[in-house]
Amino acid sequence: MTRMLTFSAVAVLLLAACSWAHSETEELSVSELLERANSNLVRSADEPILIEGDIAIDSESERNADPCTSRGCTWGKYTDGKVYIPYYINNHFSSREKSIITRGLESFSSFSCIRFRPSRSSDRDWLSIESQSGCWSYVGRRGGKQVVSLARQGCLYHGTVQHELLHALGFNHEQTRNDRDNHIRVLLQNVQSGMEHNFRKIATLNQGTSYDYNSVMQYHKYAFSKNNQPTMLPIPNPNVSFGNAKEMSRTDIARLNTLYKC
Ligand SMILES: [Zn+2]
Repeated sequence: MTRMLTFSAVAVLLLAACSWAHSETEELSVSELLERANSNLVRSADEPILIEGDIAIDSESERNADPCTSRGCTWGKYTDGKVYIPYYINNHFSSREKSIITRGLESFSSFSCIRFRPSRSSDRDWLSIESQSGCWSYVGRRGGKQVVSLARQGCLYHGTVQHELLHALGFNHEQTRNDRDNHIRVLLQNVQSGMEHNFRKIATLNQGTSYDYNSVMQYHKYAFSKNNQPTMLPIPNPNVSFGNAKEMSRTDIARLNTLYKC
């Protein structure tokens, strides 16, 4: 009897813990989920350098250049007006995990001319979706096989999948926009030392869209903070909330459609 009671008590506690963890995760923005998944990563030597938390580069020389504005990085359009992007989802994902990834990939078909499709052996450029350490992607098409990492621990949410795919499609973080100083004030005095580069400005592909606090590419107010003080504040009203997106915003979609002339 005692054993039975103990067992039910443990079961109840486990259920409560699971639903708490679930609801906590449900409330986190994409930016918070990414920060949590990418903190304290132990990365292996064969994984790329990460900048701005989740953008992969292969050499230091890429640090200050946006490949998309300097040499072009978009994926080609087929004669039917669609942009087909081949992908392969690694087998180390469970079927539940694969379905989260597939839902993220397929969401693009509902609002743009982007069509992610399973890769074939004849494909030259393709995305290899793998669970490496953390959530990360290169910016734009690189040529050949290109990894998008969605770690099984922490990256498998609809919004984080969309965020990493937007990088692969050519987009940077909202706070690195060249016009960001008109919309957010960066407080470098609150940024962890060595992380200042995350707040550089680059020539981004804004596509005529206005700065969007609700972009899935906008980091939250406390990103890379060393002292729990904000690292970014909106202008002019510092109390306006931002960086809370859980999925792509209307502006993210508009920008994508403009870049790819959908
Ligand atoms: Zn990112």
